[in-house]
Amino acid sequence: MRYVSTRGGVPPVGFADAMIAGLAPDGGLYVPQELPAIDLAEIRSWSTLCYADLATEVISRFAGDMDRAVVAAACRQAYSAEVFGSTEVVPAVALMDDTWLLRLSNGPTLAFKDMAMQLLGRLFDAELARRGERLLVVGATSGDTGSSAEHAMIGRKNISVVMLSPLGRVSPFQAAQMYSIDEPNIVNLAIDGVFDEAQDLVKAVNADAAFKAAHSIGAVNSINWARVAAQIVYYVWAWLRLAPEPDGEIQMAVPTGNFGNIYAGTVARRLGLPIRFILATNENDVLDEFFRTGVYRVRSKDQVAVTSSPSMDIAKASNFERFVFDLHGGDGAAVSRLWSQLHETGQFDLSSLSAFNSLSDWMVSGSSVHDNRVETIRRIAVGDGVLVDPHTADGIFVGQQLRRPGPLVCLETAQPAKFGATIIEALGQDPPRPDGLVGLESLPQHVTVIDADLAAVRSQVEALAARQGG
Ligand SMILES: *Cc1c(COP(=O)(O)O)cnc(C)c1O
Repeated sequence: MRYVSTRGGVPPVGFADAMIAGLAPDGGLYVPQELPAIDLAEIRSWSTLCYADLATEVISRFAGDMDRAVVAAACRQAYSAEVFGSTEVVPAVALMDDTWLLRLSNGPTLAFKDMAMQLLGRLFDAELARRGERLLVVGATSGDTGSSAEHAMIGRKNISVVMLSPLGRVSPFQAAQMYSIDEPNIVNLAIDGVFDEAQDLVKAVNADAAFKAAHSIGAVNSINWARVAAQIVYYVWAWLRLAPEPDGEIQMAVPTGNFGNIYAGTVARRLGLPIRFILATNENDVLDEFFRTGVYRVRSKDQVAVTSSPSMDIAKASNFERFVFDLHGGDGAAVSRLWSQLHETGQFDLSSLSAFNSLSDWMVSGSSVHDNRVETIRRIAVGDGVLVDPHTADGIFVGQQLRRPGPLVCLETAQPAKFGATIIEALGQDPPRPDGLVGLESLPQHVTVIDADLAAVRSQVEALAARQGG
């Protein structure tokens, strides 16, 4: 299987190259040239597989240029009881009214990002070892992605990580998740500034091609196709377990920020799974607006509301470009024109596109505000005895409003332990913590505080590269 850019400007590459490159050189995102030919009968035949073996079946079809045994080993190690807390890996919990909670956040950092990152760390390591190369990941985080990436890279011989976070602006729990790591290949830098400054510093490091090449600097960010591939698996897993009759439809409610999670679901649908999607945003409703009106209108940084579901506080949705590519039947030139228009005017309008107008058959959207989420957390705690986090509550709230008859599967994207303040507001008590994380904040921390200054970041990168011998 070959991968092309959503902007149509680069020659096709294999899965491993697309994974290591992240972004395509023309500024677009890698997408498969065509989807693997799978039919529902074949998918049905996977219903008895454990999660790791199902992941091998699905992912190896997208990763034809990687050795299947390498993919299988990575899947078995990542999707194990040691990493995800149970042999099921992704348990489904029944709530009232034919509603299910799909628990995606039992990984080491308690957010669904671990589902992809734990596999990516292993696939990257194996592929880099085969090539005899190393990679130095320089990233910026406002919380969830950084800790998920760091935990996925612990002990990896061919990858090191420099992660920038804004000093004092990530939650104490998120800070402790990152800074308690004491590994030679992981460096935490707390920037005396805000998240946007950290991100600008990462962009500046990457803009210097010579520096980037000298230290093999790369990224593992949310637009990496390999992350999408890993996320397709749990849609297949849920459909196999929860579809009402053979080949019946399920509805899935997905709390959405950068459109990465739900995009993987739309790929699963294109493989043949009858799934109806309910997209849920918070007050930052760029995507809800698009699916209701056809107008995609990105916001400026100062228009982004700070909410109680912070991992969905976005001004634009980076993975959305892949979906627009699919709506245009894979026409890269059309996507390229739309993104030029977006840069010039801040918006584009697809309301007259027939592919947009037929979406309402299988994709609807809505949004929640803070009070909706707090009330949902309370209602699910009282009615079902199950505690959910504010992001998951957003999906449940919107999902229950827009559902049709039939099973509704709500995707859990984080554990409540990560968002204690909102849980206290809803229930008057702290959320429980998994055993291994009790006292996390009092562990010794490994973090270097630096000015928001490019020279300071570069010297930290050089020092790590020198220690790693690269
Ligand atoms: C990242 C994240 C989301 C949003 O996922 P996207 O793939 O960006 O749509 C939702 N909830 C939580 C807890 C997250 O960490």
